[in-house]
Amino acid sequence: MKLVVLGSGSKGNCFAIVCDGAVLLIDAGFSVKEIERRLEGAGIVPNALAGIALTHEHGDHASGAVRLAERHGVPILASLGTWQALRPSADACDFLPLGTASTMTVGPFTVSACPTSHDAAEPVALGVTMPGGTSLGAAYDLGRPTQAVRWFLRERHCLILEANHDEALLRTSGYPAVVQQRIAGPGGHLSNFDAARLLGELHHEALRTVVLAHLSLRCNSPDAARTTITEALSARGFRGELVLAEQDGPMHPIEITGPAQQSLFA
Ligand SMILES: [Zn+2]
Ligand SMILES: [Zn+2]
Repeated sequence: MKLVVLGSGSKGNCFAIVCDGAVLLIDAGFSVKEIERRLEGAGIVPNALAGIALTHEHGDHASGAVRLAERHGVPILASLGTWQALRPSADACDFLPLGTASTMTVGPFTVSACPTSHDAAEPVALGVTMPGGTSLGAAYDLGRPTQAVRWFLRERHCLILEANHDEALLRTSGYPAVVQQRIAGPGGHLSNFDAARLLGELHHEALRTVVLAHLSLRCNSPDAARTTITEALSARGFRGELVLAEQDGPMHPIEITGPAQQSLFA
């Protein structure tokens, strides 16, 4: 099982999970051409696509989703609100609704969702479980981590979590006060500090991989994000891999390991 960061940041977000020869995309926030180019760059044939799971309808998460799904004949997995906000033309592609009380399965991927606080129609964090019990959680564009999100992300082996901005860099970013408030507010994004605190809470023995996502180019720096989060994770004894997602992918594939592989390390 592999995770490939095809790109993450305010200009577009897309992650590919590869398992048993099948591929699930988490978000599709680039053009179809760009996503296909990045998949090929990662050595993934686009016709291995099994589905596209979406967190919400904002362009940096969903701009290529409907056309890509249509082109490859794969379903979109999303909340009803996200699907309606995308306003796909009738029959463009199949839609599998993600609710809080149900899961959807495509190929080897079982996908679940949890509502988040963000200024979109019906945004969700996503959970993906694969054969053998390996479990991944993806949460970004999180205004604030609610109790439900904390519960949803617990005991995942791999976490993709937003570390959007450094609070000091946001204050000196030159953004008008109202924009700064939106970014830092309950409908906006998690800061490095917020992400560090949440990861400190979520840490457990079998957490193997943490991917920091949606870093702001203007209000964050990879060094600031890495330093803040490393401190919190080290304090909890984290010995896994910490990866900073880059805007321009594809990045080198990340091996995801779960409970079965974990016993090999014991
Ligand atoms: Zn958004
Ligand atoms: Zn976003």
